[in-house]
Amino acid sequence: MNVSRRDFLAASSSLAAAAVWSSRALGALKQNVKLPDQPFQLGVASGDPSPDGFVIWTRLAPKPLEGGGVPAEAVEVAWQVAEDEAMSRVVAKGTKVANPDWAHAVHVEVQGLKPDRWYWYQFKAVGDTSPVGRARTMPPADSLPAALKFAFASCQHFEQGLFTAYEHMAKENLDLVVHLGDYIYEAAGGQRGLRSHVGPKLTTLDDYRNRHAQYKTDPALQAAHAAYPWLVTWDDHEFEDNCAGDISAKGLARDEFLKLRATAYQVYFEHMPLRRSSLPSGPTMQLFRRIAFGRLAQFDVLDTRQYRTDQPCGDGTKPPCGGELDPQATLLGDKQEAWLLDGLAKSPATWNVQAQQVMMARVDQTPGEKESYSMDQWPGYEMNRRRILKFFAERKIANPIVIAGDIHSNWANDLLVNFDDLDGRPVATEFVGTSIASGGDGAARPSKLEGILADNPFVKFHNTQRGYVRCTATPKQWKTDFQIVEYVTRPGAPLTTAASFVVEAGRPGVQNA
Ligand code: FE
Ligand code: CA
Repeated sequence: MNVSRRDFLAASSSLAAAAVWSSRALGALKQNVKLPDQPFQLGVASGDPSPDGFVIWTRLAPKPLEGGGVPAEAVEVAWQVAEDEAMSRVVAKGTKVANPDWAHAVHVEVQGLKPDRWYWYQFKAVGDTSPVGRARTMPPADSLPAALKFAFASCQHFEQGLFTAYEHMAKENLDLVVHLGDYIYEAAGGQRGLRSHVGPKLTTLDDYRNRHAQYKTDPALQAAHAAYPWLVTWDDHEFEDNCAGDISAKGLARDEFLKLRATAYQVYFEHMPLRRSSLPSGPTMQLFRRIAFGRLAQFDVLDTRQYRTDQPCGDGTKPPCGGELDPQATLLGDKQEAWLLDGLAKSPATWNVQAQQVMMARVDQTPGEKESYSMDQWPGYEMNRRRILKFFAERKIANPIVIAGDIHSNWANDLLVNFDDLDGRPVATEFVGTSIASGGDGAARPSKLEGILADNPFVKFHNTQRGYVRCTATPKQWKTDFQIVEYVTRPGAPLTTAASFVVEAGRPGVQNA
């Protein structure tokens, strides 16, 4: 265990002692460090809810783009959880040490709350008070809630578009938000017009911290974090474009690559509302985990980047070369796959959601006679994909719903075990969500649309506008609304619903709403 991981755990265990109804009042913190004003410029966040609590997060950063601006000392931060937005009926409070080794980030795993209700939370450090955030606990594990409403999002390139979609998302009446990766992009700043990344291509702790901080300074993103608990997972741009396991897509030597990965993973943890079970240790970090919304829905949050084998056929979108059929190839890695299938076999949920990064449907990307497939997505890992879809079918897993991001476009797909047998019944349903900002203003009818639909009859919808996906699940029906904003290159785009689809419980596959 490295030193900073030990320090984090020590600070966390002092939290455990302090968190149990600490008698220390918010106003009576030790004034041990002289902090510049406004340490809460990155806002607050919550995540990974359970029936009795959730994580609350903030990071002290009075100078967000310049390494944070807090002296390299431990700073005590107080936190409170209340039953009301005015923070008057406090039901949990404590203090936590913000450690310089972890960028003065604060993660509190709040426990002992009532199930299935909303709470508000707030931090205080050396005289300054954070914005108030809102989070909810999950329904009791054995209950069947009447409805779940959540949104999922991905791909928020800061330079390519404004986060207008998050302004709208913050005003929806959701239970939670799922983020499927490309939370930041790693490229150097300055080449694009709209707004510029701070710093060079990310390599150092400071580079990564300043970049995450810059994204978190966006008021719309802050509002969406403050409004709901989030389940987050990464894709590739949090670290390196199209990376695969311990293999660099950019030709870095393995040692150098893993050193960079350790840096990227640490800073990702520092900036996300994650539990200690996801604490990184060097270049490894466990993000795959399971969150249940009573017996209505189970979310298996997956990591298809850290454990995958290399992309076949030289990566990119290519005609099949045989490598896509390699039975040893894996997107999940053996351990995560076993964990997933075991959890699915035991799941009591009506809806089983795989919250992951890349599209599962085997979409032929070349209109007409010729074929090509994205080797970075599940079609590049055919045997792994078939194993999972066969498992859904053979074990009669209730209502599998795959959600994905990555490709900056919306898709609604029937998932078949064998995509060459178009008479086959769907065994699961896939919704791929477009980007928040990446790619700039998109198109309601992309130029390849007709060809895509003609070659891939299991694709029921596709567009490339920006936005997010809203899902409402009840015991009988799932509804997906593709929520879009027509432009992100100037502010103020209204929210519209580009298309809606339903899935009936017990009958996998996309149907018109
Ligand atoms: Fe992306
Ligand atoms: Ca074709």
